[in-house]
Amino acid sequence: MTSDCVIAVDVGGTSVKAAVVDERGAAIAPVSVPTPRGAERVADEIAALVDELADAAHARELTPVALGVVTPGLVDEDEGTVLLAGNLGWQDVPMRALVEKRSTLPVAFGHDVRAGGLAEAVLGAGRGAGDHLFVAIGTGVAGAVMLGGTAYGGGGYAGELGHIVVEPDGHACACGGRGCLEAVASARAIARRYAERAGEPVAAAEVAARAVAGDGHAVAVWDAAVAGLVEALAAYLCVLAPETIVVGGGLATAGEQLLGPLRARLSERLTIQRVPRVVPAELGERAGCLGAGLLAWRTAGREVRP
Ligand SMILES: [Zn+2]
Repeated sequence: MTSDCVIAVDVGGTSVKAAVVDERGAAIAPVSVPTPRGAERVADEIAALVDELADAAHARELTPVALGVVTPGLVDEDEGTVLLAGNLGWQDVPMRALVEKRSTLPVAFGHDVRAGGLAEAVLGAGRGAGDHLFVAIGTGVAGAVMLGGTAYGGGGYAGELGHIVVEPDGHACACGGRGCLEAVASARAIARRYAERAGEPVAAAEVAARAVAGDGHAVAVWDAAVAGLVEALAAYLCVLAPETIVVGGGLATAGEQLLGPLRARLSERLTIQRVPRVVPAELGERAGCLGAGLLAWRTAGREVRP
């Protein structure tokens, strides 16, 4: 007897991750390939991955019933378009239509961080958390506003936590503003600010390690990142008062080195606001792809039961 499954694809700035996702939300036969340049070529690559994964599914007596695709940037899920994705060089790309043209499966289309937030809510650290915030701190900083079991999209513009100004007149941000959280606390910003002070280019993970070892420049850069996060999260807490904040993305692998000071300084900073639980994400790099799978299951009219 065969069971149904979906195919999930997470398009990132450097790689495209894809997998078969079964009805319990498990990823099967995951693959990762470099992201081609240009939306048409990305859509071609997605079609090739879907063929490959459909074969992998059939070999396990699974039948794909839907396809979920997520991308970064300003994503309008309702229109199926990527309004802007800086690291892909895309503007006003009708991504859902490009994928549908190449697929016989019904297509769900979404935003990588909102999908990651959904995956953490259903399968990871957000389980049972009710309304909460998922924040991904990686090359950039973005959030998923989780309300009523779904990620609020705001026509593609919601969740841009990375562009809350935390240092007025601070560093220039890729968005055209100054002093945004993303220009202070993203992995890219941490690496750049350390290089400016110490004259040595190292990755954010190395800055974190040097901060632990007591390197003064690293401590200052790391502290500024935590302070920026506290400011941005405090603003969010004033408006939406989530009980839980799930912290994911590459920088969250620093674990308690990030979350410990974040919790301590957040509770010092807050006055009348509800103090949230701050917990690490559980799904890591797989969150976006699993979220694409959950969106596909919803398109097929089914909910995943882990
Ligand atoms: Zn910005």
